[in-house]
This record gives sequence, C-alpha cells and structure tokens, in this order.
Amino acid sequence: MFKLVREMQTKIKKIVNLDELAAGHNKRKIIQQAIFTQLCQMLDPGKPSFTPKKGKPSVVMFVGLQGSGKTTTCTKYAYYHQKRGWKPALVCADTFRAGAFDQLKQNATKAKIPFYGSYMESDAVKIAVEGVETFKKENCDLIIVDTSGRHKQEAALFEEMRQVAEATKNLHMVPELSSNANFETRSCNIVMDSSIGQAAFDQAQAFKQSAAVGAVIVTKMDGHAKGGGALSAVAATKSPVIFIGTGEHMDEFEVFDVKPFVSRLLG
Ligand code: GDP
Repeated sequence: MFKLVREMQTKIKKIVNLDELAAGHNKRKIIQQAIFTQLCQMLDPGKPSFTPKKGKPSVVMFVGLQGSGKTTTCTKYAYYHQKRGWKPALVCADTFRAGAFDQLKQNATKAKIPFYGSYMESDAVKIAVEGVETFKKENCDLIIVDTSGRHKQEAALFEEMRQVAEATKNLHMVPELSSNANFETRSCNIVMDSSIGQAAFDQAQAFKQSAAVGAVIVTKMDGHAKGGGALSAVAATKSPVIFIGTGEHMDEFEVFDVKPFVSRLLG
C-alpha cells in the first residue's frame, strides 16, 4: 500500500506543477481532480476481465477469506446472470466450513438455481469435478464453484484451492464432456470484504499465486468501509473489480462503476 501511495504521489507531482500554476487557480481543486483521476487509473488494470459468454460453458471459481461474503456472492453472481438469460449452476466445493453446504443450497433453492454438493464427501477436488461434469451434461453455461474460505496463509487450503483450479481446468480434456462444448473458459473471482484495508495486497497476492485470479468482487459496500483495499487487490492481481456487494440479499449486487467508487473513497 505504501508503494502505491508513493507511486501516486510521484505521478501527481508530475501532473500538477504548483509553482507554474497562475495565481487565481484553485490549487486545492486541481489537486483533488488529479487524485481522483489517478485513483480511477489505479483501479484500471489495463486489461478487460474475463466475461462469460451466454450459451458457451464457463467455469468460474470463487475464492476469498472466510467471512468475506464469498458464498453469498456466489449466489448473487449466479442470480445476476440467471436474470439476464444465462443458465447458471452452483457447486459447493467448500468442505471446510460446516454450514457452507446448507447455506449455498438454501440460497440456490430460493433462486431456483441447480446445485451440487455433498454432506459426506470431504474431498473438495472430487466434488468440484463431479459438480462441473454434472452441469456440463445439463448444458449449464455458467458453472460457479464455491471453494473453502481461507484464514490468512493456510498452506493446506491454498494447495486444495490450487488442486480444485487445476482439476476443473483439465475437465475439457475429457472427450465426452467437450463434445457438445465449443470451448470452455474459466476464471477465478476473488471476493474481498470492503473493510479489509492494509492486508488486501498480501492476501490478494497469495490467492493470485495459487489460482488464476481474473477479477475482484468487493462485498459489504453498504457498510461504513470505503473499500480502499480494492486498490491493493487490483494492483496485486492485475485484475479489475467487476461487481460490488451492497447488502445481504441476493439482488444487492451491482456492476462496479469506478467514478462513484472513487468519490466515496475520497468523500
Ligand atoms: P464466506 O465465509 O466468505 O462464504 O461468507 P458468507 O457468504 O457466509 O458471508 C458472511 C456474512 O456476510 C453473512 O452474514 C452474509 O450475509 C454477509 N454478507 C455477504 N455479502 C454482504 C454484503 O454485500 N453486505 C452485507 N451487509 N453483508 C454481506
């Protein structure tokens, strides 16, 4: 974060040369405007995020710290796309947190979204593979895999996440599954609580090292936190923020819009 601030300071100094500003200019306003522009640029990693295509099978894995809102966000993401004509499905590969299965199942049932999971099976990789296979056969075009939430740096869970990512990636090698699929795309969304703050960079980087993180979703933007951690998450993963969570309900989910987000950060 310190590095980010330093970089921004340097850039602003380059853009705004206070000594050369003619008298009468509102310096404060000019600096504010420069900061606003810089923050907007920092939230733009310069490459578009993965966007699933309707009718083409995609697997999107969700990762995040425990309590970040990952499971809730999986359903929100599925519901958002369902309303726009996709055929989503949810797979609970979170075998670590007791209750994740029921939570996802309940949400999925409420939204009438097909669901795959198991009370008994503790092998997350196995569930992920079975779930993805099942829904591909059912021609679902957006298969969402919820993974175990992590506390800080748990090596074993990161390894499990890597294996889930690897296993679902290799699925398109199975001929009978790929026969009716023109192509399969995959991505991994990292879910972050808007209050994460300073720790965001290291966390996001740790996730990025284990799975191909392609996008960031910031949750709980309805609370007091401003979501400054998003700047670090974008820098660490070189991936854009795509959605924000604005409440506990399924439809409290918005496409990320950079300008209001930065206004709030500065406000
Ligand atoms: P997980 O451990 O990351 O899977 O987290 P959960 O999905 O279980 O969410 C943890 C808590 O955060 C739950 O009480 C959710 O209802 C709540 N939550 C998730 N997203 C949001 C949000 O955008 N706003 C608010 N206010 N609460 C949220």
